[in-house]
Amino acid sequence: MTSPVLPREAIRPVSATQNQMTLVLDEQTLELLARFKELTAHRNPMATNAGAIRLALEIAVERVDPAREVKVRGAPEKRAIELEGRASAEGGTQPGSDTRVPQSVPTPKAAASHESSSRRPSRRPSRPLRRSIWRRDGVCQYVDPLTGRRCASRFKLEIDHRQPFSKGGRTTVENLRLLCRAHNAYFGARIKWG
Ligand SMILES: [Zn+2]
Repeated sequence: MTSPVLPREAIRPVSATQNQMTLVLDEQTLELLARFKELTAHRNPMATNAGAIRLALEIAVERVDPAREVKVRGAPEKRAIELEGRASAEGGTQPGSDTRVPQSVPTPKAAASHESSSRRPSRRPSRPLRRSIWRRDGVCQYVDPLTGRRCASRFKLEIDHRQPFSKGGRTTVENLRLLCRAHNAYFGARIKWG
């Protein structure tokens, strides 16, 4: 038995507003599509696949877009957790090396010699604060110092403290911004060595 040759996922325009897309779907995806069409028949009366996919994507984007009003409990909060994790990776690796940083590496003494003992501010922005940042920025805010051009990527955006939290930067609308993962990592690395 030969394995089937899968056509490449391709999109080509068939009119000014319509596109033809080639997809290979597994059985489970087809079942999900069929079930979704049953559940949403009142909103997709012709039960077209294209209509179902559009509706499913509208619902999905509504759910995962941090800039939208949150109606669903339990929406992903992973990014904030990832950001919190970055503090523990300070100090240790050489640039370009892939060595893993142990969890208990001491922070550079200049960076964290004094920590406010009276009140511990939160590194993690609240959901409304995150939504404000997402709505205000929308794209990566990194500006190239040489060209003056903004990165403006919309891919893998993360919330960043302009003034690092570990150096007293606060979790406020003024001190937070969106960065793409690459530029967030860039500033993370710079903080380590700067
Ligand atoms: Zn960027």
